[in-house]
Formats: sequence, structure tokens, C-alpha cells
Amino acid sequence: MVNIAQWQALTEFCNQHAATLIAVSKTKPEQDIIDLYELGQRDFGENYVQELVEKQAHLPKDIRWHFIGHLQSNKVKYIAPFVHLIHGVDNAKLLIEIAKQAAKNERTISVLLQIHIAQEDTKFGFSPSEVEVLVKELQNTPIQNIRICGLMGMASNTDSIYQISNEFKTIDNLFKALKEQYFAHEDSFNTCSMGMSGDYELAIQCGSNMVRIGSLLFGQRTYS
Ligand SMILES: *Cc1c(COP(=O)(O)O)cnc(C)c1O
Repeated sequence: MVNIAQWQALTEFCNQHAATLIAVSKTKPEQDIIDLYELGQRDFGENYVQELVEKQAHLPKDIRWHFIGHLQSNKVKYIAPFVHLIHGVDNAKLLIEIAKQAAKNERTISVLLQIHIAQEDTKFGFSPSEVEVLVKELQNTPIQNIRICGLMGMASNTDSIYQISNEFKTIDNLFKALKEQYFAHEDSFNTCSMGMSGDYELAIQCGSNMVRIGSLLFGQRTYS
């Protein structure tokens, strides 16, 4: 079941802050996606490759599909023909595989580099210094068929608003520093993807311009 009032409120909130709302539909039925699509929502996020491939085949072709989960290199080929933005690029090998599959499909794939700031070891991503090294390398040796559009990050799972906002600000500062130093003339480096159902307002305050919202829109997920 989709919460339409919540979608309207979130859409208005995101418009006011010039942010993009990604409706995270993972584990949810296709009808939920259609319900939001009919209201005008076009950006949807999924984090399981097989589920995304099935949904993409059945649903309207102008949906912009965001892959927001941890992506294994050997699965890139399944989403390369259509994916709009891959949020979770966390290693150079994956980046090279995305480029290879993009070339095979004669397209350029947009990606975000995932930053690991949170305390948990379970979260994937580059440290700020690693990402800086990578971006510098890409500057010297560009990879074709890839468009680096910005950063993505998740805050720690904690009740401390202080800690969460510090983490978001760290990612936003890094985003701005990279923009200034390496992407000042590239309009496509413009995305800082931070914030989920529990912390999106804080994320926007800290500079996010893309939020990924699941449970607020579609209700709690049950994993079987
Ligand atoms: C599931 C997921 C979300 C959405 O989470 P909610 O708390 O349900 O809004 C956002 N980002 C990523 C990377 C996710 O895996």
C-alpha cells in the first residue's frame, strides 16, 4: 500500500529544497510502483539485481531506475542496458566493469561513488582519502562510458542527531571539495545522495540533493 499523502508531502518538501526524491520500492509489488507512477513519480530505487530486472521488464519504460544496493561486478551486465544511476560504486574494479558493460550497450552510465563514514563495518564504500586518490587517477586516466555524478552515503544507525549530522556534513564537504578541485567545469557532477526515511530532513539540511525513501512511502518491508 502506498501512502499518497506522504508522497505528496515528500514531493513538495523535495521541490522546496531542489532535491530529487527516489522512491525505494525494493521488495514491494509492481502495483505500488504503478500507483506512484500514475501520480507522476519517475525515479525509483531498487537494490536487488534480479528484482530490478524483472520490474524493469514489466513497468513503463520512462521510469528512471536507480540501483542503490551493493553491486557485484558479475551482475552489472544485467542492469547495464537500462539503469539510470548506480549509487553504490565502492571499488575501482566495479567502476571498470560498469564501463565495459556500458560500452557493450553503447551508452554512458552515470554513477555515484559511495563514501563510508558510518561507524558500522557492514557499510560499504570509499574513505574520503581513497575517493580523492581515485578521482585524481581518473583525472589523469579517464575511463570512457562512465559519468561520475557525485557521492552517496549513509549515516550510522544511531539516535545521536549530532553524530548523524556530522557524518552527513563530512560527506557534503567532501562532495563540494571534489567539485571545486576536479569537476568545476562538469555540470554532471552535481549529486549528493544522502538521507532515507529516518534521516532525510537532516540530510537535506546538511546539503543532500537526492533522498532515497522507502518505508515512509510504502510501509515497512518484510523480508522472506
Ligand atoms: C532500503 C534503502 C533505502 C530506503 O530505506 P528506508 O529507511 O526504508 O527509507 C535507502 N537507501 C538504501 C541504500 C537502501 O538500501
